[in-house]
Amino acid sequence: LSERLQSALAKLKGRGKVSEADVKSAMREVRLALLEADVNFKVVKNFVSRVSERAVGQEVLQSLTPGQQVIKVVNEELTKLMGGEQSRLQLNSKPAVILMVGLQGAGKTTTAGKLAHHLRKQHNKRPLLVAGDIYRPAAIRQLEVLGKQVDLPVFSLGDKESPVKIAEKGLAHAKENQHDVVIVDTAGRLHIDETMMDELRGIKEKVQPDEILLVVDAMTGQDAVNVAESFNREMDLTGVVLTKLDGDTRGGAALSVKAVTDCPVKFAGMGEKVDALEPFHPERMASRILGMGDVLTLIEKAQASVDEEKARDLERKMRTQQFTFEDFLDQLEQVRNMGPLDDLLGMMPGMGQVKGMKNLQVDEKHLTKAEAIIRSMTLQERREPEVINASRRKRIALGSGTSVQDVNRLIKQFMDMKKMMKQFQSMSKGKKRGMGKF
Ligand code: GDP
Ligand code: MG
Repeated sequence: LSERLQSALAKLKGRGKVSEADVKSAMREVRLALLEADVNFKVVKNFVSRVSERAVGQEVLQSLTPGQQVIKVVNEELTKLMGGEQSRLQLNSKPAVILMVGLQGAGKTTTAGKLAHHLRKQHNKRPLLVAGDIYRPAAIRQLEVLGKQVDLPVFSLGDKESPVKIAEKGLAHAKENQHDVVIVDTAGRLHIDETMMDELRGIKEKVQPDEILLVVDAMTGQDAVNVAESFNREMDLTGVVLTKLDGDTRGGAALSVKAVTDCPVKFAGMGEKVDALEPFHPERMASRILGMGDVLTLIEKAQASVDEEKARDLERKMRTQQFTFEDFLDQLEQVRNMGPLDDLLGMMPGMGQVKGMKNLQVDEKHLTKAEAIIRSMTLQERREPEVINASRRKRIALGSGTSVQDVNRLIKQFMDMKKMMKQFQSMSKGKKRGMGKF
């Protein structure tokens, strides 16, 4: 999804003028990209019409950078689509009860463990896990193993008591033992059926949960959304947890759940490990979907003036963070063939915001200075800037006809850039792990 959206919008970006027709054709591609990602049809339709309306409006076409503005609108609308603000757990009762519901294999039990871990680590809670799935032989054991892993107690009564009783007694046990959160794991079925819903409603009535979290497998795309719709109708969910976002998901579920069910996604499961649970941030997700900075365009531009191999090499280096001063120098030389520096910086991941930062302001004069400074470095210094200590800085300054401050500034810029690349790298790692098709 990410790639399709980026390429759909790339054509608009950096353009001085954008016409209504340009926006229209970009929106056609955005529409296809979303549908391809398995986003709900109605959601796509509404989304595209909202974006189009805003995009051909005054705020955009009359602006100085209409292309960028369109992208901003898309980003904002994506964020809105996913609920706008981060939606937090509301844990008000003492103890607060969280009921995990969902189909079999969605990740309820795993998520219960992860959530307990998260609540303790991030919110200083003392959660009690309650084993309410008595149907699958290994379910209780699975929760107990998880409990051991995160070093938290698990309440179970084997498989002889009813899940409703187990939940009730679990809650009483939590009260006696000063637990402030109770997480009740329940049984799922392969499909939604009345027996399951009855049981869940029974538990709900008895323990009055603060949160009823539906766990759905993001990989199932529109099915996940349909499941959410049904569960919400029956149970009045308070939130959704999307699991397996680390898998080969196309992202449709993440985008449609809130819009279709009006139920916010509260967490995202990013792996099988107990710490692979992240609070869901619509804004971050939108940025992730749109890509951080427009690396593709940057590479494209670079390709126009640099040979393809070098561009690929650069991209790889940015990803693996092996970017050195040598590469930097290489870049400086090529930058002049590529056109206005501002444009390029804007396309670098993370550079958009940084451009305004004082220590990264760049103009041609600075470029020439930077080049001179790097040329005065030894090969080792270019490759391992860490070795550049005070006396080396002095030598480099002398050699390049600049001041130590100039050298310091350049090194700082370079380090900032690397840091940014690192951030980008961890994000694209996320991409490789899970967001690949976003
Ligand atoms: P339940 O039947 O709903 O309780 O599902 P489980 O918690 O037993 O999970 C089913 C499978 O999905 C297990 O193999 C989990 O390890 C796996 N799983 C759960 N959440 C995630 C996730 O976020 N990412 C990945 N990759 N696997 C997950
Ligand atoms: Mg389970």
